[in-house]
Amino acid sequence: MITPSAYSLAGRTALITGGGTGIGLAIAKCLAACGAKVVLSGRREQPLQTAASEIGELASIQVMDVNDTAAAPALAATLREKHGPIGILVNNAGINMKKPFTETTEEEMLGVFQTNVMGGLALARALHPQLKESGDGSVVFISSMAALMGIPLVAAYSVAKSAVTGAVRAIAVEWGTDGIRVNAVAPGWIDTTMSRRAFEGDPTRKEKILTRTALRCLGDTEDVGWSVAYLCSPAAKFVTGTVIPVDGGASMGF
Ligand code: NDP
Repeated sequence: MITPSAYSLAGRTALITGGGTGIGLAIAKCLAACGAKVVLSGRREQPLQTAASEIGELASIQVMDVNDTAAAPALAATLREKHGPIGILVNNAGINMKKPFTETTEEEMLGVFQTNVMGGLALARALHPQLKESGDGSVVFISSMAALMGIPLVAAYSVAKSAVTGAVRAIAVEWGTDGIRVNAVAPGWIDTTMSRRAFEGDPTRKEKILTRTALRCLGDTEDVGWSVAYLCSPAAKFVTGTVIPVDGGASMGF
Protein backbone atom coordinates (compact mmCIF):
# COMPACT_ATOMS: atom_id res chain seq x y z
CA MET A 1 0.00 0.00 0.00
CA ILE A 2 1.24 3.51 -0.79
CA THR A 3 1.26 5.62 2.36
CA PRO A 4 1.25 9.42 2.43
CA SER A 5 4.31 9.34 4.69
CA ALA A 6 6.72 7.92 2.09
CA TYR A 7 8.40 11.32 1.76
CA SER A 8 8.60 11.98 5.50
CA LEU A 9 12.00 12.40 7.14
CA ALA A 10 10.61 12.84 10.65
CA GLY A 11 12.95 11.42 13.27
CA ARG A 12 15.99 11.53 10.95
CA THR A 13 19.10 13.67 11.46
CA ALA A 14 21.03 15.00 8.47
CA LEU A 15 24.47 16.57 8.14
CA ILE A 16 24.66 18.93 5.15
CA THR A 17 28.13 20.19 4.26
CA GLY A 18 28.09 23.71 2.83
CA GLY A 19 24.61 23.97 4.35
CA GLY A 20 24.83 27.69 5.08
CA THR A 21 24.54 28.98 1.51
CA GLY A 22 23.16 28.37 -1.97
CA ILE A 23 22.21 24.82 -2.88
CA GLY A 24 23.24 23.43 0.54
CA LEU A 25 20.90 25.80 2.34
CA ALA A 26 18.04 24.88 0.02
CA ILE A 27 18.72 21.19 0.65
CA ALA A 28 18.62 21.84 4.40
CA LYS A 29 15.32 23.71 4.08
CA CYS A 30 13.74 20.91 2.03
CA LEU A 31 14.94 18.17 4.42
CA ALA A 32 13.65 20.19 7.39
CA ALA A 33 10.32 20.73 5.60
CA CYS A 34 10.08 16.91 5.43
CA GLY A 35 10.66 16.74 9.19
CA ALA A 36 14.42 16.02 9.49
CA LYS A 37 16.71 17.63 12.02
CA VAL A 38 19.44 19.34 9.98
CA VAL A 39 23.03 20.11 10.97
CA LEU A 40 24.43 22.81 8.70
CA SER A 41 28.19 22.81 8.32
CA GLY A 42 30.79 25.05 6.69
CA ARG A 43 33.92 27.00 7.55
CA ARG A 44 32.27 30.36 8.31
CA GLU A 45 30.08 30.59 11.39
CA GLN A 46 28.09 33.70 10.42
CA PRO A 47 26.31 32.35 7.31
CA LEU A 48 25.59 29.14 9.21
CA GLN A 49 23.98 31.07 12.08
CA THR A 50 21.85 33.13 9.68
CA ALA A 51 20.79 30.01 7.75
CA ALA A 52 19.92 28.08 10.92
CA SER A 53 17.77 30.92 12.21
CA GLU A 54 15.90 30.98 8.86
CA ILE A 55 15.10 27.27 9.25
CA GLY A 56 14.20 27.38 12.93
CA GLU A 57 14.26 24.79 15.69
CA LEU A 58 15.08 21.77 13.51
CA ALA A 59 18.43 23.36 12.54
CA SER A 60 21.78 23.52 14.28
CA ILE A 61 25.27 24.33 13.06
CA GLN A 62 28.73 22.75 13.04
CA VAL A 63 31.73 24.81 11.98
CA MET A 64 34.14 22.55 10.08
CA ASP A 65 36.49 22.39 7.10
CA VAL A 66 35.91 19.31 4.92
CA ASN A 67 39.50 19.60 3.69
CA ASP A 68 40.67 18.59 7.15
CA THR A 69 39.99 14.90 6.54
CA ALA A 70 42.03 13.82 9.59
CA ALA A 71 39.46 15.56 11.80
CA ALA A 72 36.50 13.56 10.40
CA PRO A 73 36.46 10.76 13.03
CA ALA A 74 36.49 13.25 15.94
CA LEU A 75 33.83 15.31 14.23
CA ALA A 76 31.64 12.23 13.77
CA ALA A 77 31.96 11.47 17.50
CA THR A 78 31.04 15.07 18.41
CA LEU A 79 27.99 15.00 16.14
CA ARG A 80 26.82 11.72 17.65
CA GLU A 81 27.15 13.07 21.15
CA LYS A 82 25.23 16.25 20.30
CA HIS A 83 22.54 14.89 17.98
CA GLY A 84 22.40 11.08 18.16
CA PRO A 85 23.21 9.00 15.08
CA ILE A 86 23.49 10.87 11.79
CA GLY A 87 21.35 8.91 9.31
CA ILE A 88 21.72 11.25 6.33
CA LEU A 89 24.93 12.74 4.95
CA VAL A 90 24.72 15.28 2.14
CA ASN A 91 28.16 15.97 0.69
CA ASN A 92 27.36 19.31 -0.90
CA ALA A 93 30.42 21.46 -0.04
CA GLY A 94 32.26 22.20 -3.24
CA ILE A 95 34.46 24.68 -5.04
CA ASN A 96 34.83 25.40 -8.73
CA MET A 97 37.71 26.86 -10.71
CA LYS A 98 37.38 28.47 -14.14
CA LYS A 99 40.71 28.29 -15.98
CA PRO A 100 42.11 26.79 -19.19
CA PHE A 101 43.48 23.31 -18.52
CA THR A 102 46.97 24.29 -19.70
CA GLU A 103 47.11 26.99 -17.00
CA THR A 104 45.74 24.81 -14.20
CA THR A 105 48.47 23.65 -11.85
CA GLU A 106 48.67 20.27 -10.18
CA GLU A 107 48.24 21.99 -6.83
CA GLU A 108 45.00 23.62 -8.02
CA MET A 109 43.71 20.29 -9.36
CA LEU A 110 44.41 18.66 -6.02
CA GLY A 111 42.77 21.53 -4.11
CA VAL A 112 39.53 21.21 -6.06
CA PHE A 113 39.68 17.41 -5.68
CA GLN A 114 40.24 17.65 -1.93
CA THR A 115 37.11 19.71 -1.29
CA ASN A 116 34.76 18.09 -3.81
CA VAL A 117 35.82 14.47 -3.31
CA MET A 118 38.17 13.61 -0.44
CA GLY A 119 36.31 15.73 2.12
CA GLY A 120 33.02 13.96 1.47
CA LEU A 121 34.63 10.52 1.37
CA ALA A 122 36.29 11.07 4.75
CA LEU A 123 32.97 12.07 6.28
CA ALA A 124 31.18 9.10 4.75
CA ARG A 125 33.81 6.73 6.17
CA ALA A 126 33.73 8.33 9.62
CA LEU A 127 29.91 8.34 9.75
CA HIS A 128 29.51 4.78 8.40
CA PRO A 129 28.70 3.24 11.83
CA GLN A 130 26.05 5.89 12.50
CA LEU A 131 24.54 5.63 9.02
CA LYS A 132 24.31 1.87 9.53
CA GLU A 133 22.85 2.20 13.02
CA SER A 134 20.16 4.59 11.79
CA GLY A 135 18.51 1.74 9.86
CA ASP A 136 17.98 3.57 6.56
CA GLY A 137 21.24 5.44 6.05
CA SER A 138 21.48 7.70 3.04
CA VAL A 139 24.48 9.46 1.52
CA VAL A 140 23.93 11.98 -1.26
CA PHE A 141 26.78 13.64 -3.11
CA ILE A 142 26.19 16.81 -5.13
CA SER A 143 27.77 16.24 -8.53
CA SER A 144 27.45 18.44 -11.63
CA MET A 145 26.84 18.59 -15.37
CA ALA A 146 30.65 18.67 -15.54
CA ALA A 147 30.56 14.94 -14.72
CA LEU A 148 28.18 14.23 -17.60
CA MET A 149 29.49 16.36 -20.46
CA GLY A 150 32.61 18.19 -21.60
CA ILE A 151 32.51 21.82 -20.44
CA PRO A 152 35.41 24.15 -21.30
CA LEU A 153 37.57 25.85 -18.64
CA VAL A 154 36.58 23.64 -15.71
CA ALA A 155 38.89 20.62 -16.07
CA ALA A 156 39.79 20.41 -12.37
CA TYR A 157 36.12 20.54 -11.42
CA SER A 158 35.14 17.97 -14.10
CA VAL A 159 37.78 15.55 -12.86
CA ALA A 160 36.53 15.90 -9.29
CA LYS A 161 32.82 15.63 -10.04
CA SER A 162 33.44 12.63 -12.33
CA ALA A 163 35.23 10.91 -9.45
CA VAL A 164 32.10 11.39 -7.38
CA THR A 165 30.19 9.18 -9.85
CA GLY A 166 32.68 6.34 -9.36
CA ALA A 167 32.60 6.79 -5.60
CA VAL A 168 28.81 6.61 -5.54
CA ARG A 169 28.75 3.31 -7.46
CA ALA A 170 31.62 1.72 -5.52
CA ILE A 171 30.35 2.65 -2.07
CA ALA A 172 26.73 1.84 -2.92
CA VAL A 173 27.61 -1.77 -3.71
CA GLU A 174 29.75 -2.11 -0.57
CA TRP A 175 27.19 -0.57 1.79
CA GLY A 176 23.96 -2.01 0.38
CA THR A 177 24.03 -4.86 2.89
CA ASP A 178 24.43 -2.29 5.69
CA GLY A 179 21.11 -0.74 4.68
CA ILE A 180 22.85 2.40 3.46
CA ARG A 181 21.94 3.92 0.10
CA VAL A 182 24.46 6.10 -1.76
CA ASN A 183 23.41 8.39 -4.62
CA ALA A 184 24.23 11.69 -6.26
CA VAL A 185 22.30 14.56 -7.74
CA ALA A 186 23.85 16.32 -10.73
CA PRO A 187 22.44 19.84 -10.80
CA GLY A 188 22.31 21.63 -14.11
CA TRP A 189 22.82 25.37 -14.15
CA ILE A 190 21.30 26.66 -10.93
CA ASP A 191 21.02 30.34 -10.04
CA THR A 192 23.61 30.73 -7.24
CA THR A 193 26.66 32.84 -6.43
CA MET A 194 28.88 30.06 -7.85
CA SER A 195 27.11 29.98 -11.21
CA ARG A 196 26.84 33.80 -11.43
CA ARG A 197 30.63 33.95 -10.99
CA ALA A 198 31.06 31.42 -13.82
CA PHE A 199 28.88 33.57 -16.16
CA GLU A 200 30.59 36.85 -15.21
CA GLY A 201 31.78 38.70 -18.35
CA ASP A 202 30.86 35.68 -20.48
CA PRO A 203 27.36 36.29 -21.94
CA THR A 204 28.05 33.81 -24.76
CA ARG A 205 28.52 31.05 -22.20
CA LYS A 206 25.24 31.93 -20.49
CA GLU A 207 23.41 32.05 -23.84
CA LYS A 208 24.84 28.66 -24.82
CA ILE A 209 23.71 27.15 -21.54
CA LEU A 210 20.18 28.53 -21.82
CA THR A 211 19.73 27.44 -25.43
CA ARG A 212 20.78 23.85 -24.65
CA THR A 213 18.53 23.66 -21.57
CA ALA A 214 15.17 22.26 -22.70
CA LEU A 215 13.27 24.34 -20.14
CA ARG A 216 15.21 27.52 -21.19
CA CYS A 217 15.91 28.80 -17.69
CA LEU A 218 18.30 28.36 -14.77
CA GLY A 219 17.14 26.10 -11.96
CA ASP A 220 16.22 27.20 -8.44
CA THR A 221 18.21 25.87 -5.51
CA GLU A 222 15.05 24.18 -4.17
CA ASP A 223 14.84 22.09 -7.35
CA VAL A 224 18.00 20.36 -6.12
CA GLY A 225 16.77 20.39 -2.50
CA TRP A 226 13.59 18.43 -3.23
CA SER A 227 15.47 15.82 -5.26
CA VAL A 228 17.81 15.24 -2.31
CA ALA A 229 14.83 15.02 0.05
CA TYR A 230 13.35 12.34 -2.22
CA LEU A 231 16.60 10.33 -2.30
CA CYS A 232 16.84 10.38 1.51
CA SER A 233 13.21 9.38 2.05
CA PRO A 234 11.55 5.95 2.24
CA ALA A 235 10.06 6.78 -1.20
CA ALA A 236 13.52 6.05 -2.62
CA LYS A 237 14.18 2.90 -0.57
CA PHE A 238 15.01 0.90 -3.74
CA VAL A 239 17.22 3.60 -5.27
CA THR A 240 20.98 3.36 -4.82
CA GLY A 241 24.17 3.86 -6.81
CA THR A 242 22.63 6.34 -9.20
CA VAL A 243 23.17 9.93 -10.33
CA ILE A 244 20.00 11.94 -10.92
CA PRO A 245 20.34 14.99 -13.20
CA VAL A 246 18.23 17.95 -12.07
CA ASP A 247 19.00 20.11 -15.05
CA GLY A 248 15.95 21.29 -16.98
CA GLY A 249 16.90 18.77 -19.67
CA ALA A 250 20.40 20.19 -20.27
CA SER A 251 22.13 16.80 -20.33
CA MET A 252 19.71 14.92 -22.58
CA GLY A 253 19.31 17.18 -25.60
CA PHE A 254 21.37 18.86 -28.25
P1 NDP B 1 28.27 28.03 -2.79
O1 NDP B 1 29.62 28.61 -3.08
O2 NDP B 1 27.13 28.92 -2.46
O3 NDP B 1 28.37 26.97 -1.63
C1 NDP B 1 29.49 26.24 -1.33
C2 NDP B 1 29.36 25.88 0.14
O4 NDP B 1 30.39 24.98 0.46
C3 NDP B 1 29.49 27.10 1.04
O5 NDP B 1 28.48 27.04 2.04
C4 NDP B 1 30.86 26.93 1.66
O6 NDP B 1 30.86 27.43 3.00
C5 NDP B 1 31.02 25.41 1.63
N1 NDP B 1 32.40 25.01 1.56
C6 NDP B 1 33.32 25.30 0.58
N2 NDP B 1 34.51 24.80 0.89
C7 NDP B 1 34.36 24.18 2.10
C8 NDP B 1 35.23 23.49 2.96
N3 NDP B 1 36.54 23.35 2.67
N4 NDP B 1 34.76 22.99 4.12
C9 NDP B 1 33.45 23.14 4.44
N5 NDP B 1 32.58 23.79 3.67
C10 NDP B 1 33.03 24.30 2.52
O7 NDP B 1 27.97 27.11 -4.06
P2 NDP B 1 26.66 26.35 -4.57
O8 NDP B 1 25.57 26.37 -3.58
O9 NDP B 1 26.40 26.82 -5.94
O10 NDP B 1 27.25 24.86 -4.73
C11 NDP B 1 26.93 23.81 -3.86
C12 NDP B 1 27.30 22.50 -4.53
O11 NDP B 1 26.57 22.35 -5.75
C13 NDP B 1 28.78 22.39 -4.91
O12 NDP B 1 29.23 21.06 -4.69
C14 NDP B 1 28.78 22.69 -6.40
O13 NDP B 1 29.88 22.13 -7.04
C15 NDP B 1 27.47 22.07 -6.81
N6 NDP B 1 26.91 22.57 -8.07
C16 NDP B 1 26.51 23.88 -8.21
C17 NDP B 1 25.93 24.29 -9.41
C18 NDP B 1 25.44 25.68 -9.62
O14 NDP B 1 24.91 25.98 -10.70
N7 NDP B 1 25.54 26.56 -8.66
C19 NDP B 1 25.75 23.38 -10.51
C20 NDP B 1 26.21 22.05 -10.27
C21 NDP B 1 26.76 21.68 -9.07
P3 NDP B 1 32.18 28.10 3.66
O15 NDP B 1 32.79 28.97 2.60
O16 NDP B 1 31.68 28.85 4.84
O17 NDP B 1 33.04 26.96 4.06
